[in-house]
Amino acid sequence: MTKARIGIFIVSLFISICPVGGRDAQLKIQTIDGNGYVSLEELIRSYRIESSFDIITQKGKLFHKSHYAVYTVSFSLFVIDGLLYRSETPVVRRQGGIMIPCRAASAIIEAFYPDVSARCSGSLVQVDKKPEVKEPAKTGKTPAVIQRGKDRIRFIVIDAGHGGKDPGAVGIGGVHEKEITLSVARRLEKELAARFPSLRIVMTRKKDVFIELSRRTDLANEMIAGNGNGLFISIHVNATLSPIISGYETYYLSQNPSNDDARSTAALENNVVVLEDESKGKKLYDDIDYIEAMMLTTQIQKESMMLAESLQGGLSGRVKSSKSRGVKRADFFVLRGVLMPAALVEIGFITHKKESKILGNASHQNSIASGLAQGIADFIRKYNSLPQ
Ligand SMILES: [Zn+2]
Repeated sequence: MTKARIGIFIVSLFISICPVGGRDAQLKIQTIDGNGYVSLEELIRSYRIESSFDIITQKGKLFHKSHYAVYTVSFSLFVIDGLLYRSETPVVRRQGGIMIPCRAASAIIEAFYPDVSARCSGSLVQVDKKPEVKEPAKTGKTPAVIQRGKDRIRFIVIDAGHGGKDPGAVGIGGVHEKEITLSVARRLEKELAARFPSLRIVMTRKKDVFIELSRRTDLANEMIAGNGNGLFISIHVNATLSPIISGYETYYLSQNPSNDDARSTAALENNVVVLEDESKGKKLYDDIDYIEAMMLTTQIQKESMMLAESLQGGLSGRVKSSKSRGVKRADFFVLRGVLMPAALVEIGFITHKKESKILGNASHQNSIASGLAQGIADFIRKYNSLPQ
């Protein structure tokens, strides 16, 4: 071989192993249960990705230069460069290998190689060099990988607070919180089914039964695997020692409560944990860190705040016989680890004489359900119109 030929050979060898723009590196798409997947092994080889995998947690990490991605087998959630990415289908195992949903693999390629665009097209992942673009005008919005993978809302989980041996707050005349929450939840279910025929509406309980908080969370998270993204709305009734406090408020999860009232409301709702099987409950809360919990929290907290604001706004528009106490933050166990926008609504105070009475009233419960449904509609509209 002459020197020139060796040179050409080396150049062509380089082109063929260079993944970006090199046709030979295109990934094959395989169909599993009607969905497109790529082999993780092929992705790693073709794109010179470093990787690690923990067989105990089934969690894997991928690295390329300063970029990284985290995935977990049988979950459809990824963290890519610190942002949450939701895939429509979970990571699966096939013949000893790990298969990554095609769209998630494309998102990883784009994050690891910012100068290319990748999409699932036919039987291959099509990777193209991005055309040179001028500096985009500043819009004030931060570009985020998550927005591309953001899935539309496909289901809503309605959580009627308390139940069974846990009555929740007990108000004037012996009225139980658990009865009011279930009745409002049922009305909301009906309203949502009529308003959103294409969404799945799921209740954590349909009757007077005790369900552990972590089970409620799991039920919601298990829905993600087959259905994409959803919303979690927990309905409660508040109680306080002061008989003059009344009104409705909506919470989203935060380790930093808005104020002392928010802190005590959370303490009240979290009390139920003492009724739970201790070892079981603890184990489940520990499991929450199966994926970088902090990273998820940032993204989900933003979405949850938006959900809480929409719900509170919907209530303000429909509920006339009670007053709005605004949107607040608190650490509710039932919202911990929910992998989707989630909010907890305290629909009123069972310890306020007048409010306690109207909380049991069908027309008042209907106006709450209708306000929540309106809030959900507003949230979905805003959420789906976020930049893709
Ligand atoms: Zn409650």
